Amino acid sequence: MADPASLLDRDALHGARRLLAELPLRLHFPPALAAGFAARRREEFERFITVSAPVAVLVCLLVMLAGRAGFRQELLGPDGGLWWVGAWFNTAVVTLTALAFLLPAARRHYHRLLPLTAGILMASTVFLSLAITEPRLAQSLTYVVMFVITISTLGLRLSQPVAAVACLAGGLAGMGAALLLEHRPDWGMLFHYYPGALGVSLFIAWLLERQERISFLSSLLLAHESAERERLNRELEQMARSDGLTGLANRRHFDERLAAEWERARRDQRPLALLFIDVDHFKRYNDHYGHAAGDDCLQQVAASLTGALLRSGDLAARYGGEEFVLMLPGTDSPGAEEVALRVLLAVDARALPHAASQTAPVVTVSIGLAACVPQAGAPAALLNAADEALYRAKGEGRHRIARAVPPPAPAMLPA
Ligand code: GH3
Ligand code: MG
Ligand code: MG
Repeated sequence: MADPASLLDRDALHGARRLLAELPLRLHFPPALAAGFAARRREEFERFITVSAPVAVLVCLLVMLAGRAGFRQELLGPDGGLWWVGAWFNTAVVTLTALAFLLPAARRHYHRLLPLTAGILMASTVFLSLAITEPRLAQSLTYVVMFVITISTLGLRLSQPVAAVACLAGGLAGMGAALLLEHRPDWGMLFHYYPGALGVSLFIAWLLERQERISFLSSLLLAHESAERERLNRELEQMARSDGLTGLANRRHFDERLAAEWERARRDQRPLALLFIDVDHFKRYNDHYGHAAGDDCLQQVAASLTGALLRSGDLAARYGGEEFVLMLPGTDSPGAEEVALRVLLAVDARALPHAASQTAPVVTVSIGLAACVPQAGAPAALLNAADEALYRAKGEGRHRIARAVPPPAPAMLPA
């Protein structure tokens, strides 16, 4: 079946909720839901037909065997021939239908094929029950008619109107044939049980289908709600990991990734580099252009950072305020310097006016760089080394890159 949640656009969702709240006697579905419901019934049918088709053929054969054993005397009489023809005919119809369902196309169109089979069986059994005059045989056939009614209305997963039409049309055809062939049917017997059996079966079928529709709606809403919950969880997870202003990773997520990458780099003895990036004279920018413009500026700097990252394993995060950090796994000091230069130039290229800056007429950044092949301990030493390098970049006049003086810490080998 199609994804259940996808059946529910806003209107269908509203409709399904209303139907479940009001539970009207007639649970009429809008087209999208009706199609989903039909598809689910078809799926169920396909699941059961592989078992039920051989069982149906077996039942026909058993009915014949039981008839032969139970009505030995009666079958020797004049009605015997008719009974055998009818029994073989019904068995052949059921067998042919069962064989047809080996074809996927027939299984797909079961709601067209089965009413035909049901109608034919109904016509032949009603005809036999009227044409056979021997009382015990005729009575046994009325049971078969009721059996066909029950299976047609309750067992075949047909919609009620279709099942009703198949039973009525088949029944009328059987009666017509009995009349045409000038048998003298026992109409009293037929009218005694036929409408009652059909009415009761259809009523039970209606109750069952109503229940089925209710559970279909409930399962759709449940599927929709769990998809919605999953979506919200993903969104929350994303929000918990990212910075609201810039969309970059937040400090928490950065710390987690750094710890993981540090361990990986230590295991693989590969380098790990960090770039600390700080906007120059940003307090003055805020004071001059206002806080909202300051926020815009931070977003632009963040975009420059993501633009400068080329590897999927790299991570850009907002470390706090106007300070950013780039983590570059598998990158040594010269490689990190290349990235740092790209960042510096990308921010310059935006040429965001900064009239209050003492460094340049545009927004600039300073970058501290540290890289190492981790040996032991925690990544704090690498962070401190990058931070110290940034401090030096500021001290040396800003708008530049400063490298950590190696070796940054005993736990690290310079990369
Ligand atoms: P330096 O060149 O030495 O880095 O000087 P600076 O002015 O950039 O550094 P300082 O640490 O003195 O000021 C940082 C300013 O960044 C102060 C604070 O108001 C501003 N800031 C921090 N977070 C935000 C933010 O989310 N939005 C805006 N608009 N400003 C922020
Ligand atoms: Mg700053
Ligand atoms: Mg700062």
